[in-house]
Amino acid sequence: MARRKKIYEGKAKILYEGPEPGTIVQYFKDDATAFNAQKKDVIEGKGVLNNRLSEFFMTGLNQIGVPTHFIRRLNMREQLVRQVEIIPLEVIVRNFAAGSMSKRLGIDEGTQLPRPIVEYCYKDDSLGDPLVTEEHIAAFGWASQQDMDDILSLALRVNDFLSGVMMAVGIRLVDFKIEIGRVYDGDFQRLIVADEISPDSCRLWDMETGQKLDKDVFRRDLGSLTDAYTEVATRLGVMPKNAAPITKPTLIN
Ligand code: UDP
Repeated sequence: MARRKKIYEGKAKILYEGPEPGTIVQYFKDDATAFNAQKKDVIEGKGVLNNRLSEFFMTGLNQIGVPTHFIRRLNMREQLVRQVEIIPLEVIVRNFAAGSMSKRLGIDEGTQLPRPIVEYCYKDDSLGDPLVTEEHIAAFGWASQQDMDDILSLALRVNDFLSGVMMAVGIRLVDFKIEIGRVYDGDFQRLIVADEISPDSCRLWDMETGQKLDKDVFRRDLGSLTDAYTEVATRLGVMPKNAAPITKPTLIN
């Protein structure tokens, strides 16, 4: 069998050419990075969990009419997605202050915001993904005004959906990041949710205890990241409680 072509390798995923034109295979690695890749580790099982969780969220979004790149899961670590032209923005939606917003504006982490606040960062690792305004986005031609209207509406719909899904299992959606892709259907182009939605790109806090169930566990050395992600997956019914262990089995003589 011919070796498939690697298109791109990022910090947490590898993209391969898909079986048909316009498709891509997205492979979820176990690598975890934070602080612009200054902190790195391999967290066994993270890729399997994120593949499942992203499938769960993207499928739900597709079902309520929010278009995403997700086509189907292929195996434990891979999913088939539509090829898109990624808009070079990280679209962040915040319901409660945390992370960089708390630092920047001096607002205590966990403070509820008067309404969801959408922020944009320019995707450039060498610059540390700087916060930008719609003025920068328009002036530098990263997205048109129509695109920005569509992006805002997609981001808020994703926020409502994810907030509700998480609230139903006792988890607060503090904030999240999505990426948006452009697809061409004949003469038309439209924007869809791309990349991934997983605890790597969300802040998720237990509503009762405030326990963190997201990548902050890794960023801030708060315990086992796999346990945190497994908790999210189990509550959502994505990974049955008695599922086979996701770590490598140890050989018993
Ligand atoms: N986020 C992400 N990738 C990034 C930056 C942020 O997925 O490169 C997510 C992050 O997990 C959080 C939200 O976006 O859910 C807001 O992140 P923030 O700006 O507070 O940055 P951080 O404190 O993570 O540096």
